[in-house]
Amino acid sequence: MTSTPFPPEILRDVEKRRTFGIISHPDAGKTTLTEKLLLFGGAIQLAGTVKARKSARHATSDWMEVEKQRGISVTSSVMQFEYEGHTINLLDTPGHQDFSEDTYRVLTAVDAAVMVIDAAKGVEAQTIKLLEVCRLRNTPIITFVNKLDREVKEPFDLLSEIEDVLKIECAPVTWPLGMGKAFRGVYHLLQDQVLRFTPGEERRVDAEVIKGLDNPQLDTLFPMEIGQLRDDVELIGGASAPFSLEDFLAGRQTPVFFGSGINNFGVQEILQSLIDWAPAPQPRDAGKRMVEPAEAPFSGFVFKIQANMDPKHRDRIAFFRICSGRYTSGMKVKHVRLGRDMKLANALTFMANERVHKEDGVAGDIIGIHNHGQLQIGDTLTEGENLGFKGIPYFAPELFRAARLRDPLKTKQLQKGLQELGEEGAIQVFEQEGGQMLLGAVGQLQFEVVAQRLKDEYKVDAIFESAEIYTARWLTFPDEITRRNFEREQAIRLGKDVDGNPVYLASTRYNLDVTMEKWPKVGFHATREHG
Ligand code: GDP
Repeated sequence: MTSTPFPPEILRDVEKRRTFGIISHPDAGKTTLTEKLLLFGGAIQLAGTVKARKSARHATSDWMEVEKQRGISVTSSVMQFEYEGHTINLLDTPGHQDFSEDTYRVLTAVDAAVMVIDAAKGVEAQTIKLLEVCRLRNTPIITFVNKLDREVKEPFDLLSEIEDVLKIECAPVTWPLGMGKAFRGVYHLLQDQVLRFTPGEERRVDAEVIKGLDNPQLDTLFPMEIGQLRDDVELIGGASAPFSLEDFLAGRQTPVFFGSGINNFGVQEILQSLIDWAPAPQPRDAGKRMVEPAEAPFSGFVFKIQANMDPKHRDRIAFFRICSGRYTSGMKVKHVRLGRDMKLANALTFMANERVHKEDGVAGDIIGIHNHGQLQIGDTLTEGENLGFKGIPYFAPELFRAARLRDPLKTKQLQKGLQELGEEGAIQVFEQEGGQMLLGAVGQLQFEVVAQRLKDEYKVDAIFESAEIYTARWLTFPDEITRRNFEREQAIRLGKDVDGNPVYLASTRYNLDVTMEKWPKVGFHATREHG
């Protein structure tokens, strides 16, 4: 590319950014890994609190009772920390499958992901789904095989499982020396050295290093395990691909690290690989053109909306990924969907280390904007130009309930509550012909959270009844006449989502197939982009 006149101080800051999320099946060790990463980032006072937050989160907030009871993570948050001259943004994703839709959207805001695999269990259901989402954008993935201090599967078997099930090539970077009670460390294939394992949770110092696989010191230290390691390493040459930065960046290959999160072993290598290999913020598709991260004009999009954790403040926080330019407090931006200006004052910036306070942000950073209803998921804010960032999906819900009130006088509150919770993405809301409100969810738990929040935040006692609906499809029509004819014939199966888009509410798989066959020119879409 020819030299582009990007402001050098923005370019410099953007290149230091690494923005990533952790994907894993519940219990694989995501929370533990998050804590240890923060420990390296110097946010020591925070390590320990992530865990606490997971089990006894937000005692201050009633609507999170459900979450507290189940000890799962409903909300996502952002942790920013410094490591070796880089600014790292870790976007937390709810691991429970009932909240996968939220997780999917968070993954649209990252540039890379770390996949945690429980070495005893291998590839699990939620990991498969999450990796599919990463694949939509070819997000580069770093793999951490966790819990090597336990009796686990053979490393070769784990790699074939990842390759077969997830359809991504594995390039081992470290390799375990023993496992379970005999876990002695890992061999770093690229650096030709053994990193010795010593248990201990808060260990931050570098592991002891023994150079060279042929080093006789290894025979003295690990007489029982070293033979196996040497055999394995010989096999790896034939069985696995060597690490290729290009393939990793294209999302075709994942570098694999082995370790034990709880013992803080192997975590530093993950952090190092993020800095060395994971991409800095990339250009993003904004509809009419690609936006370069170091361009001077500010731009970005909302990928998540969350109720304020403080029940005294009823506003909501819009999580916004900066895609270009620089955020400064008080700046004026354009709200593209509404076509009007808005002032960005008092946005939240996220700092895991509270000793450092920052008031600005560049591409890759996340800011939290106080939202009184003006922002929706997928909204673009820019300095001037009418851009529209792409790719933040809604997924067709798999579970449906009809909302009915105990007190019919509260219809207004119910509508307002569902509209707002729908915009936030806590649940999908459809209005059927005749005004019936229908809720669609990816997971059962979403209904419970919404019922609780309607009660606490909107003082509405709603009953959710089963609805005879199999799935929803967003509709597109080739022309006005087809639309009108379709609407006339299918009136009872039609609805609208919170943004007013038409949807087909199929009663059964068969019903959907028959209707699609009968109306070949009508588009039936299982996903829809926000905005
Ligand atoms: P998450 O649900 O993916 O966030 O998983 P957690 O980080 O909460 O971990 C789930 C369980 O696995 C907890 O009991 C952890 O203490 C445990 N765990 C995490 N990492 C390790 C590890 O390296 N070895 C062992 N033995 N247990 C671990």
